[in-house]
Amino acid sequence: MASDTDEIRGAKLLIGDTWREASEGPAFSSVNPADEKVLASIAHASPADVDAAVEAATQALRSKEWGQMKPSARGRLLTRIGDLILSNREELARLDCLDAGKPYTSVFHGDVPAAADAFHYFAGLPTTILGETYPSDGTHLAYTLREPVGVVAAIIPWNFPLLMAAWKIAPALATGNTVVLKPAEQTSLSALRLAELCLEAGVPAGALNVVTGLGHTTGAALVRHPGIQMVAFTGSTSVGYEIQRVAAEHFAQVTLELGGKSPHLIFADADLEAATSAAAQGIFFNCGEVCTAGSRLLVQESVYDQVVERLVESTSKLVPSNPLDPDCRLGPLISNEHLERVVQCIEQGQSEGAELLIGGDRPAGEGFFLNPTIFGRVDNNSSIAREEIFGPVLCVIPFVDEADALAIANDTWSGLAAGVWTRDIQRAHRMVRNLQAGTVWVNTYNAFNAMVPYGGIKRSGLGRELSGHAVEHYTQLKSVWFGL
Ligand code: NAP
Ligand code: MG
Repeated sequence: MASDTDEIRGAKLLIGDTWREASEGPAFSSVNPADEKVLASIAHASPADVDAAVEAATQALRSKEWGQMKPSARGRLLTRIGDLILSNREELARLDCLDAGKPYTSVFHGDVPAAADAFHYFAGLPTTILGETYPSDGTHLAYTLREPVGVVAAIIPWNFPLLMAAWKIAPALATGNTVVLKPAEQTSLSALRLAELCLEAGVPAGALNVVTGLGHTTGAALVRHPGIQMVAFTGSTSVGYEIQRVAAEHFAQVTLELGGKSPHLIFADADLEAATSAAAQGIFFNCGEVCTAGSRLLVQESVYDQVVERLVESTSKLVPSNPLDPDCRLGPLISNEHLERVVQCIEQGQSEGAELLIGGDRPAGEGFFLNPTIFGRVDNNSSIAREEIFGPVLCVIPFVDEADALAIANDTWSGLAAGVWTRDIQRAHRMVRNLQAGTVWVNTYNAFNAMVPYGGIKRSGLGRELSGHAVEHYTQLKSVWFGL
Protein backbone atom coordinates (compact mmCIF):
# COMPACT_ATOMS: atom_id res chain seq x y z
CA MET A 1 0.00 0.00 0.00
CA ALA A 2 1.41 3.39 -0.97
CA SER A 3 1.74 5.89 1.84
CA ASP A 4 2.44 8.93 -0.32
CA THR A 5 -0.42 11.27 -0.97
CA ASP A 6 0.35 12.44 -4.49
CA GLU A 7 -2.96 11.41 -5.92
CA ILE A 8 -5.00 13.29 -3.32
CA ARG A 9 -5.88 16.37 -5.27
CA GLY A 10 -7.07 19.75 -4.10
CA ALA A 11 -10.69 19.35 -3.10
CA LYS A 12 -13.53 21.31 -4.66
CA LEU A 13 -17.18 21.86 -3.78
CA LEU A 14 -19.94 19.78 -5.36
CA ILE A 15 -22.83 22.02 -6.35
CA GLY A 16 -25.43 20.47 -8.63
CA ASP A 17 -23.40 18.26 -10.93
CA THR A 18 -20.30 20.45 -11.09
CA TRP A 19 -17.14 20.54 -9.04
CA ARG A 20 -16.26 24.16 -8.30
CA GLU A 21 -13.68 26.23 -6.51
CA ALA A 22 -15.02 28.30 -3.61
CA SER A 23 -16.23 31.72 -4.74
CA GLU A 24 -13.96 33.66 -2.40
CA GLY A 25 -11.36 33.39 0.31
CA PRO A 26 -8.40 31.06 0.82
CA ALA A 27 -8.67 27.29 0.96
CA PHE A 28 -7.69 25.47 4.15
CA SER A 29 -5.51 22.42 4.70
CA SER A 30 -6.22 18.88 5.72
CA VAL A 31 -3.43 17.40 7.79
CA ASN A 32 -2.43 13.79 8.35
CA PRO A 33 -2.52 13.44 12.16
CA ALA A 34 0.06 10.62 12.06
CA ASP A 35 2.87 12.72 10.53
CA GLU A 36 1.51 16.29 10.76
CA LYS A 37 2.00 16.79 7.00
CA VAL A 38 -0.49 18.61 4.80
CA LEU A 39 -2.51 16.11 2.76
CA ALA A 40 -4.68 18.34 0.63
CA SER A 41 -6.02 21.80 0.14
CA ILE A 42 -9.77 22.01 0.79
CA ALA A 43 -12.12 24.64 -0.65
CA HIS A 44 -13.71 26.88 1.97
CA ALA A 45 -17.35 27.37 0.94
CA SER A 46 -18.59 30.94 1.42
CA PRO A 47 -22.18 31.91 2.26
CA ALA A 48 -22.67 32.52 -1.50
CA ASP A 49 -21.54 28.95 -2.22
CA VAL A 50 -23.94 27.68 0.44
CA ASP A 51 -26.73 29.67 -1.26
CA ALA A 52 -25.83 28.03 -4.58
CA ALA A 53 -25.82 24.55 -3.02
CA VAL A 54 -29.20 25.08 -1.34
CA GLU A 55 -30.57 26.44 -4.61
CA ALA A 56 -29.30 23.37 -6.51
CA ALA A 57 -30.86 21.10 -3.88
CA THR A 58 -34.17 22.99 -4.07
CA GLN A 59 -34.24 22.73 -7.87
CA ALA A 60 -33.51 19.01 -7.70
CA LEU A 61 -36.53 18.43 -5.45
CA ARG A 62 -38.73 19.75 -8.26
CA SER A 63 -36.78 18.12 -11.09
CA LYS A 64 -38.15 15.28 -13.17
CA GLU A 65 -34.94 13.28 -12.68
CA TRP A 66 -35.08 13.30 -8.89
CA GLY A 67 -38.49 14.62 -7.81
CA GLN A 68 -40.33 12.13 -9.99
CA MET A 69 -37.95 9.20 -9.76
CA LYS A 70 -39.80 5.95 -9.07
CA PRO A 71 -39.23 4.62 -5.53
CA SER A 72 -37.85 1.36 -6.92
CA ALA A 73 -35.36 3.34 -9.04
CA ARG A 74 -34.28 5.22 -5.90
CA GLY A 75 -33.72 1.85 -4.26
CA ARG A 76 -31.59 0.62 -7.18
CA LEU A 77 -29.60 3.85 -7.07
CA LEU A 78 -28.80 3.36 -3.39
CA THR A 79 -27.81 -0.25 -4.08
CA ARG A 80 -25.37 0.95 -6.75
CA ILE A 81 -23.83 3.45 -4.31
CA GLY A 82 -23.37 0.68 -1.73
CA ASP A 83 -21.78 -1.55 -4.39
CA LEU A 84 -19.44 1.25 -5.49
CA ILE A 85 -18.35 1.81 -1.88
CA LEU A 86 -17.40 -1.86 -1.65
CA SER A 87 -15.58 -1.89 -4.98
CA ASN A 88 -13.55 1.16 -3.84
CA ARG A 89 -12.96 -0.24 -0.38
CA GLU A 90 -9.14 0.13 -0.28
CA GLU A 91 -9.17 3.70 -1.52
CA LEU A 92 -11.88 4.82 0.89
CA ALA A 93 -10.17 3.09 3.81
CA ARG A 94 -6.92 4.74 2.90
CA LEU A 95 -8.51 8.22 2.71
CA ASP A 96 -10.00 8.00 6.21
CA CYS A 97 -6.79 6.44 7.50
CA LEU A 98 -4.63 9.31 6.18
CA ASP A 99 -7.07 12.12 6.84
CA ALA A 100 -8.30 11.12 10.30
CA GLY A 101 -5.44 8.93 11.60
CA LYS A 102 -7.78 5.95 11.93
CA PRO A 103 -6.17 2.48 11.80
CA TYR A 104 -6.42 1.27 8.17
CA THR A 105 -7.43 -2.22 9.23
CA SER A 106 -10.35 -1.04 11.30
CA VAL A 107 -11.61 1.33 8.58
CA PHE A 108 -11.26 -1.40 5.95
CA HIS A 109 -13.13 -3.98 8.05
CA GLY A 110 -15.42 -1.58 9.93
CA ASP A 111 -16.31 1.85 8.57
CA VAL A 112 -16.25 1.09 4.83
CA PRO A 113 -18.46 -2.05 4.84
CA ALA A 114 -20.74 -0.37 7.40
CA ALA A 115 -21.10 2.65 5.10
CA ALA A 116 -22.00 0.32 2.21
CA ASP A 117 -24.42 -1.48 4.51
CA ALA A 118 -26.23 1.79 5.28
CA PHE A 119 -26.88 2.29 1.54
CA HIS A 120 -27.83 -1.35 1.00
CA TYR A 121 -30.22 -1.27 3.97
CA PHE A 122 -31.88 2.02 2.97
CA ALA A 123 -32.12 0.78 -0.64
CA GLY A 124 -34.93 -1.47 0.58
CA LEU A 125 -36.99 1.32 2.12
CA PRO A 126 -38.24 3.60 -0.71
CA THR A 127 -40.89 1.11 -1.83
CA THR A 128 -42.14 0.59 1.73
CA ILE A 129 -42.96 4.22 2.56
CA LEU A 130 -46.75 4.27 2.68
CA GLY A 131 -49.56 6.64 3.58
CA GLU A 132 -52.80 5.59 5.32
CA THR A 133 -56.47 5.63 4.40
CA TYR A 134 -58.89 6.53 7.21
CA PRO A 135 -62.35 5.12 8.01
CA SER A 136 -64.98 7.26 6.37
CA ASP A 137 -68.66 8.04 6.99
CA GLY A 138 -69.29 8.11 3.25
CA THR A 139 -69.13 11.90 2.84
CA HIS A 140 -65.37 12.13 2.65
CA LEU A 141 -62.27 10.18 1.74
CA ALA A 142 -59.30 11.02 3.97
CA TYR A 143 -55.79 9.72 3.51
CA THR A 144 -52.17 10.67 4.07
CA LEU A 145 -49.21 11.02 1.75
CA ARG A 146 -45.75 10.60 3.24
CA GLU A 147 -43.57 13.21 1.51
CA PRO A 148 -39.91 14.18 1.71
CA VAL A 149 -39.12 16.99 4.17
CA GLY A 150 -37.17 18.90 1.50
CA VAL A 151 -33.57 20.11 1.57
CA VAL A 152 -31.60 18.41 4.35
CA ALA A 153 -28.46 20.08 5.73
CA ALA A 154 -26.23 17.24 6.93
CA ILE A 155 -23.40 18.27 9.25
CA ILE A 156 -20.98 15.62 10.48
CA PRO A 157 -17.91 15.16 12.73
CA TRP A 158 -14.42 13.84 12.00
CA ASN A 159 -14.32 10.61 13.96
CA PHE A 160 -16.08 8.35 11.40
CA PRO A 161 -15.91 10.56 8.31
CA LEU A 162 -17.17 8.15 5.63
CA LEU A 163 -19.63 6.33 7.87
CA MET A 164 -21.26 9.49 9.24
CA ALA A 165 -21.67 10.80 5.67
CA ALA A 166 -23.34 7.49 4.72
CA TRP A 167 -25.62 7.54 7.77
CA LYS A 168 -26.95 10.94 6.65
CA ILE A 169 -27.01 10.62 2.85
CA ALA A 170 -28.57 7.14 2.65
CA PRO A 171 -31.78 7.80 4.65
CA ALA A 172 -32.17 11.31 3.20
CA LEU A 173 -32.02 10.07 -0.41
CA ALA A 174 -34.06 6.93 0.32
CA THR A 175 -36.92 9.18 1.41
CA GLY A 176 -36.66 11.47 -1.64
CA ASN A 177 -35.02 14.47 0.00
CA THR A 178 -32.04 16.39 -1.34
CA VAL A 179 -28.88 16.93 0.68
CA VAL A 180 -26.28 19.61 1.31
CA LEU A 181 -23.49 17.90 3.23
CA LYS A 182 -20.86 19.73 5.27
CA PRO A 183 -18.09 17.36 6.36
CA ALA A 184 -15.87 18.18 9.36
CA GLU A 185 -13.04 20.55 8.47
CA GLN A 186 -10.40 17.96 9.40
CA THR A 187 -11.87 15.19 7.26
CA SER A 188 -13.46 16.16 3.95
CA LEU A 189 -11.69 13.70 1.64
CA SER A 190 -13.74 10.52 2.00
CA ALA A 191 -17.01 12.48 1.86
CA LEU A 192 -15.89 14.07 -1.43
CA ARG A 193 -14.92 10.69 -2.86
CA LEU A 194 -18.27 9.28 -1.73
CA ALA A 195 -20.00 12.15 -3.53
CA GLU A 196 -18.09 11.26 -6.73
CA LEU A 197 -19.27 7.67 -6.34
CA CYS A 198 -22.84 8.88 -5.84
CA LEU A 199 -22.66 10.78 -9.16
CA GLU A 200 -21.13 7.72 -10.81
CA ALA A 201 -24.04 5.64 -9.49
CA GLY A 202 -26.45 8.07 -11.15
CA VAL A 203 -27.56 10.47 -8.42
CA PRO A 204 -29.18 13.32 -10.42
CA ALA A 205 -27.74 16.85 -10.35
CA GLY A 206 -28.46 18.68 -7.12
CA ALA A 207 -29.78 15.72 -5.13
CA LEU A 208 -26.44 15.65 -3.30
CA ASN A 209 -24.23 18.71 -2.81
CA VAL A 210 -21.08 18.97 -0.71
CA VAL A 211 -19.86 22.22 0.82
CA THR A 212 -16.52 21.82 2.58
CA GLY A 213 -15.58 24.44 5.11
CA LEU A 214 -15.43 25.48 8.72
CA GLY A 215 -18.24 25.14 11.22
CA HIS A 216 -18.58 28.76 12.26
CA THR A 217 -18.57 29.98 8.62
CA THR A 218 -19.84 27.38 6.12
CA GLY A 219 -21.74 25.31 8.72
CA ALA A 220 -23.39 28.32 10.31
CA ALA A 221 -24.41 29.74 6.88
CA LEU A 222 -26.03 26.41 6.06
CA VAL A 223 -27.96 26.04 9.32
CA ARG A 224 -29.39 29.57 9.20
CA HIS A 225 -30.34 29.26 5.51
CA PRO A 226 -34.12 29.67 5.14
CA GLY A 227 -34.07 27.28 2.17
CA ILE A 228 -33.29 24.21 4.27
CA GLN A 229 -36.11 22.29 5.94
CA MET A 230 -34.07 19.98 8.17
CA VAL A 231 -30.69 19.78 9.84
CA ALA A 232 -29.32 16.31 10.50
CA PHE A 233 -26.38 16.90 12.83
CA THR A 234 -23.80 14.69 14.50
CA GLY A 235 -21.25 16.34 16.73
CA SER A 236 -20.72 17.89 20.12
CA THR A 237 -23.48 18.73 22.56
CA SER A 238 -22.53 22.43 22.63
CA VAL A 239 -22.67 22.85 18.83
CA GLY A 240 -25.86 20.74 18.77
CA TYR A 241 -27.49 23.18 21.15
CA GLU A 242 -26.48 26.13 18.96
CA ILE A 243 -27.74 24.38 15.81
CA GLN A 244 -31.10 23.67 17.38
CA ARG A 245 -31.42 27.32 18.45
CA VAL A 246 -30.58 28.70 14.98
CA ALA A 247 -32.70 26.12 13.12
CA ALA A 248 -35.66 27.04 15.32
CA GLU A 249 -35.50 30.61 13.99
CA HIS A 250 -36.77 29.38 10.64
CA PHE A 251 -38.60 26.29 11.93
CA ALA A 252 -36.25 23.75 10.35
CA GLN A 253 -36.54 20.28 11.88
CA VAL A 254 -33.49 18.83 13.59
CA THR A 255 -32.07 15.46 14.47
CA LEU A 256 -29.12 15.65 16.84
CA GLU A 257 -26.61 12.90 17.58
CA LEU A 258 -24.44 14.41 20.28
CA GLY A 259 -21.78 13.54 22.82
CA GLY A 260 -21.72 11.04 25.64
CA LYS A 261 -20.08 9.92 28.85
CA SER A 262 -21.35 6.40 28.70
CA PRO A 263 -21.26 4.07 31.71
CA HIS A 264 -19.97 0.53 31.15
CA LEU A 265 -20.84 -1.71 34.11
CA ILE A 266 -19.14 -4.91 35.21
CA PHE A 267 -20.85 -6.97 37.93
CA ALA A 268 -18.91 -9.54 39.93
CA ASP A 269 -20.90 -12.40 38.36
CA ALA A 270 -19.86 -11.45 34.78
CA ASP A 271 -17.52 -13.31 32.45
CA LEU A 272 -14.65 -11.13 33.63
CA GLU A 273 -12.29 -11.97 30.81
CA ALA A 274 -14.80 -10.99 28.12
CA ALA A 275 -15.97 -7.97 30.12
CA THR A 276 -12.46 -6.62 30.66
CA SER A 277 -11.52 -7.03 27.05
CA ALA A 278 -14.75 -5.24 25.99
CA ALA A 279 -14.05 -2.49 28.53
CA ALA A 280 -10.64 -1.83 26.93
CA GLN A 281 -12.11 -1.93 23.41
CA GLY A 282 -14.99 0.26 24.59
CA ILE A 283 -12.63 3.10 25.42
CA PHE A 284 -9.57 2.58 23.21
CA PHE A 285 -11.35 1.73 19.94
CA ASN A 286 -10.80 4.63 17.49
CA CYS A 287 -8.53 6.22 20.11
CA GLY A 288 -11.54 6.96 22.34
CA GLU A 289 -12.86 9.35 19.68
CA VAL A 290 -16.23 7.62 19.72
CA CYS A 291 -19.45 9.20 20.92
CA THR A 292 -20.47 5.93 22.61
CA ALA A 293 -17.04 5.33 24.18
CA GLY A 294 -17.47 3.50 27.49
CA SER A 295 -15.52 6.24 29.22
CA ARG A 296 -16.83 5.53 32.73
CA LEU A 297 -16.10 1.93 33.68
CA LEU A 298 -18.11 0.98 36.77
CA VAL A 299 -16.76 -2.15 38.47
CA GLN A 300 -18.26 -3.97 41.44
CA GLU A 301 -15.98 -3.54 44.45
CA SER A 302 -15.50 -7.28 45.07
CA VAL A 303 -13.80 -7.74 41.66
CA TYR A 304 -12.40 -4.24 41.29
CA ASP A 305 -8.72 -5.07 41.89
CA GLN A 306 -8.86 -8.11 39.64
CA VAL A 307 -10.49 -6.22 36.74
CA VAL A 308 -8.18 -3.24 37.05
CA GLU A 309 -5.11 -5.47 37.10
CA ARG A 310 -6.21 -7.24 33.88
CA LEU A 311 -7.05 -3.93 32.23
CA VAL A 312 -3.72 -2.33 33.01
CA GLU A 313 -1.91 -5.48 31.87
CA SER A 314 -3.68 -5.55 28.48
CA THR A 315 -3.36 -1.77 28.05
CA SER A 316 0.40 -1.94 28.57
CA LYS A 317 0.53 -3.92 25.30
CA LEU A 318 -1.52 -1.34 23.37
CA VAL A 319 1.18 0.83 21.81
CA PRO A 320 0.19 3.69 19.48
CA SER A 321 1.57 3.17 15.97
CA ASN A 322 1.29 4.33 12.36
CA PRO A 323 -2.35 3.86 11.29
CA LEU A 324 -1.25 2.56 7.87
CA ASP A 325 0.45 -0.38 9.57
CA PRO A 326 -2.02 -3.28 9.25
CA ASP A 327 -1.39 -4.24 12.90
CA CYS A 328 -2.11 -0.75 14.24
CA ARG A 329 -4.83 -0.78 16.91
CA LEU A 330 -4.31 2.72 18.27
CA GLY A 331 -3.62 5.71 16.01
CA PRO A 332 -3.12 9.39 16.75
CA LEU A 333 -5.75 11.85 17.92
CA ILE A 334 -7.32 14.02 15.22
CA SER A 335 -5.37 17.25 15.75
CA ASN A 336 -2.85 19.00 17.91
CA GLU A 337 -5.58 21.22 19.32
CA HIS A 338 -7.62 18.19 20.38
CA LEU A 339 -4.53 16.44 21.78
CA GLU A 340 -3.80 19.48 23.93
CA ARG A 341 -7.34 19.48 25.26
CA VAL A 342 -7.16 15.79 26.15
CA VAL A 343 -3.79 16.29 27.87
CA GLN A 344 -5.34 19.15 29.87
CA CYS A 345 -8.16 16.85 31.00
CA ILE A 346 -5.56 14.32 32.14
CA GLU A 347 -3.68 16.99 34.09
CA GLN A 348 -6.91 18.12 35.70
CA GLY A 349 -7.67 14.51 36.68
CA GLN A 350 -4.28 14.27 38.37
CA SER A 351 -4.73 17.57 40.15
CA GLU A 352 -8.13 16.39 41.41
CA GLY A 353 -6.41 13.40 43.01
CA ALA A 354 -7.49 10.53 40.69
CA GLU A 355 -5.11 7.56 40.70
CA LEU A 356 -3.21 7.46 37.34
CA LEU A 357 -2.78 3.72 36.70
CA ILE A 358 -1.16 3.82 33.27
CA GLY A 359 -0.43 6.28 30.45
CA GLY A 360 -1.04 10.00 30.66
CA ASP A 361 2.05 10.72 28.58
CA ARG A 362 2.93 10.94 24.89
CA PRO A 363 5.23 8.73 22.87
CA ALA A 364 8.23 10.52 21.37
CA GLY A 365 8.19 11.60 17.69
CA GLU A 366 5.87 13.26 15.22
CA GLY A 367 2.10 12.86 15.12
CA PHE A 368 -0.66 13.59 17.63
CA PHE A 369 -0.22 10.35 19.56
CA LEU A 370 -1.11 9.79 23.20
CA ASN A 371 -0.53 6.67 25.29
CA PRO A 372 -3.69 4.92 26.46
CA THR A 373 -4.58 6.24 29.89
CA ILE A 374 -6.48 4.76 32.84
CA PHE A 375 -7.50 6.49 36.05
CA GLY A 376 -8.58 4.35 39.03
CA ARG A 377 -11.00 5.01 41.92
CA VAL A 378 -12.37 8.09 40.17
CA ASP A 379 -15.00 10.19 41.93
CA ASN A 380 -18.06 10.44 39.65
CA ASN A 381 -18.28 14.14 40.57
CA SER A 382 -14.78 14.93 39.34
CA SER A 383 -14.31 16.70 36.02
CA ILE A 384 -12.75 13.68 34.27
CA ALA A 385 -15.86 11.65 35.12
CA ARG A 386 -18.25 14.36 34.02
CA GLU A 387 -16.81 15.89 30.86
CA GLU A 388 -16.58 14.12 27.54
CA ILE A 389 -12.82 13.78 26.95
CA PHE A 390 -13.10 12.12 23.51
CA GLY A 391 -9.71 10.46 23.79
CA PRO A 392 -8.11 7.24 25.07
CA VAL A 393 -8.78 8.07 28.72
CA LEU A 394 -10.71 5.68 30.95
CA CYS A 395 -12.15 6.47 34.39
CA VAL A 396 -12.68 3.39 36.55
CA ILE A 397 -15.24 3.86 39.32
CA PRO A 398 -16.02 1.22 41.97
CA PHE A 399 -19.60 0.46 43.05
CA VAL A 400 -21.07 -1.62 45.86
CA ASP A 401 -24.36 -3.04 44.57
CA GLU A 402 -26.98 -2.65 41.86
CA ALA A 403 -28.59 0.44 43.39
CA ASP A 404 -25.21 2.12 43.79
CA ALA A 405 -24.26 1.19 40.20
CA LEU A 406 -27.47 2.70 38.79
CA ALA A 407 -27.15 5.88 40.84
CA ILE A 408 -23.62 6.46 39.54
CA ALA A 409 -24.39 5.39 35.95
CA ASN A 410 -27.36 7.75 35.63
CA ASP A 411 -25.76 10.68 37.44
CA THR A 412 -24.64 12.36 34.20
CA TRP A 413 -25.84 14.81 31.55
CA SER A 414 -25.39 12.13 28.90
CA GLY A 415 -27.84 9.50 27.73
CA LEU A 416 -26.34 7.99 24.60
CA ALA A 417 -25.39 4.45 25.54
CA ALA A 418 -24.63 2.09 28.43
CA GLY A 419 -23.18 -1.39 28.75
CA VAL A 420 -23.78 -4.10 31.37
CA TRP A 421 -21.87 -7.30 32.02
CA THR A 422 -23.63 -9.86 34.21
CA ARG A 423 -24.69 -13.51 34.02
CA ASP A 424 -27.83 -12.83 36.08
CA ILE A 425 -30.63 -12.53 33.55
CA GLN A 426 -33.05 -10.83 35.93
CA ARG A 427 -30.49 -8.25 36.90
CA ALA A 428 -29.71 -7.68 33.21
CA HIS A 429 -33.38 -6.91 32.53
CA ARG A 430 -33.61 -4.62 35.56
CA MET A 431 -30.55 -2.69 34.37
CA VAL A 432 -31.92 -2.40 30.83
CA ARG A 433 -35.09 -0.82 32.25
CA ASN A 434 -33.36 1.55 34.62
CA LEU A 435 -30.32 2.78 32.71
CA GLN A 436 -31.01 6.17 31.11
CA ALA A 437 -29.64 5.71 27.60
CA GLY A 438 -30.74 5.47 23.97
CA THR A 439 -28.88 2.16 23.58
CA VAL A 440 -28.09 -0.48 26.22
CA TRP A 441 -25.65 -3.29 25.43
CA VAL A 442 -25.77 -6.45 27.54
CA ASN A 443 -22.70 -8.71 27.48
CA THR A 444 -21.43 -6.89 24.40
CA TYR A 445 -20.43 -3.30 23.61
CA ASN A 446 -20.48 -0.94 20.61
CA ALA A 447 -22.61 -3.24 18.45
CA PHE A 448 -24.20 -1.33 15.55
CA ASN A 449 -26.25 -2.21 12.51
CA ALA A 450 -28.11 -0.05 10.00
CA MET A 451 -31.34 -1.95 10.82
CA VAL A 452 -31.34 -0.97 14.50
CA PRO A 453 -32.28 2.55 15.64
CA TYR A 454 -29.53 4.67 17.14
CA GLY A 455 -29.68 7.90 19.13
CA GLY A 456 -29.54 9.50 22.54
CA ILE A 457 -31.67 10.89 25.34
CA LYS A 458 -30.92 13.68 27.85
CA ARG A 459 -28.21 15.93 26.34
CA SER A 460 -26.98 13.24 23.95
CA GLY A 461 -29.49 14.00 21.27
CA LEU A 462 -32.88 14.15 19.66
CA GLY A 463 -34.38 11.68 17.23
CA ARG A 464 -33.15 8.33 15.95
CA GLU A 465 -30.90 7.51 13.03
CA LEU A 466 -30.84 4.26 11.04
CA SER A 467 -33.65 1.67 10.89
CA GLY A 468 -37.15 2.25 9.55
CA HIS A 469 -37.64 4.86 12.29
CA ALA A 470 -35.32 7.24 10.42
CA VAL A 471 -38.12 7.52 7.84
CA GLU A 472 -40.24 9.35 10.45
CA HIS A 473 -37.66 12.14 10.65
CA TYR A 474 -36.92 12.38 6.94
CA THR A 475 -40.56 12.52 5.81
CA GLN A 476 -43.66 14.48 6.68
CA LEU A 477 -47.33 13.63 6.43
CA LYS A 478 -49.73 15.45 4.17
CA SER A 479 -53.39 14.87 5.08
CA VAL A 480 -55.74 14.81 2.10
CA TRP A 481 -59.54 15.17 2.20
CA PHE A 482 -61.83 14.46 -0.73
CA GLY A 483 -65.50 15.44 -0.49
CA LEU A 484 -67.61 12.66 -1.99
P1 NAP B 1 -18.30 19.56 16.60
O1 NAP B 1 -17.25 20.51 16.95
O2 NAP B 1 -19.62 19.72 17.24
O3 NAP B 1 -18.43 19.59 15.02
C1 NAP B 1 -19.32 18.79 14.31
C2 NAP B 1 -19.62 19.46 12.98
O4 NAP B 1 -20.33 20.68 13.20
C3 NAP B 1 -18.38 19.84 12.19
O5 NAP B 1 -18.64 19.65 10.83
C4 NAP B 1 -18.23 21.30 12.55
O6 NAP B 1 -17.42 22.02 11.66
C5 NAP B 1 -19.65 21.74 12.54
N1 NAP B 1 -19.92 22.99 13.28
C6 NAP B 1 -19.22 23.54 14.29
N2 NAP B 1 -19.80 24.68 14.70
C7 NAP B 1 -20.87 24.88 13.92
C8 NAP B 1 -21.88 25.89 13.84
N3 NAP B 1 -21.90 26.93 14.67
N4 NAP B 1 -22.85 25.75 12.90
C9 NAP B 1 -22.87 24.70 12.07
N5 NAP B 1 -21.94 23.73 12.08
C10 NAP B 1 -20.96 23.80 13.00
O7 NAP B 1 -17.87 18.07 16.92
P2 NAP B 1 -16.49 17.37 16.55
O8 NAP B 1 -15.44 17.93 17.43
O9 NAP B 1 -16.26 17.40 15.10
O10 NAP B 1 -16.82 15.86 16.93
C11 NAP B 1 -16.77 15.38 18.22
C12 NAP B 1 -18.13 15.37 18.88
O11 NAP B 1 -19.08 14.66 18.09
C13 NAP B 1 -18.12 14.66 20.21
O12 NAP B 1 -18.83 15.41 21.17
C14 NAP B 1 -18.86 13.36 19.93
O13 NAP B 1 -19.43 12.77 21.04
C15 NAP B 1 -19.83 13.76 18.91
N6 NAP B 1 -20.27 12.60 18.13
C16 NAP B 1 -21.52 12.12 18.33
C17 NAP B 1 -21.96 11.01 17.64
C18 NAP B 1 -23.35 10.48 17.86
O14 NAP B 1 -23.80 9.73 17.02
N7 NAP B 1 -24.02 10.81 18.92
C19 NAP B 1 -21.13 10.40 16.71
C20 NAP B 1 -19.85 10.91 16.51
C21 NAP B 1 -19.43 12.03 17.24
P3 NAP B 1 -15.83 22.06 11.95
O15 NAP B 1 -15.33 20.78 11.49
O16 NAP B 1 -15.28 23.19 11.19
O17 NAP B 1 -15.69 22.29 13.42
MG1 MG C 1 -6.93 15.51 8.17
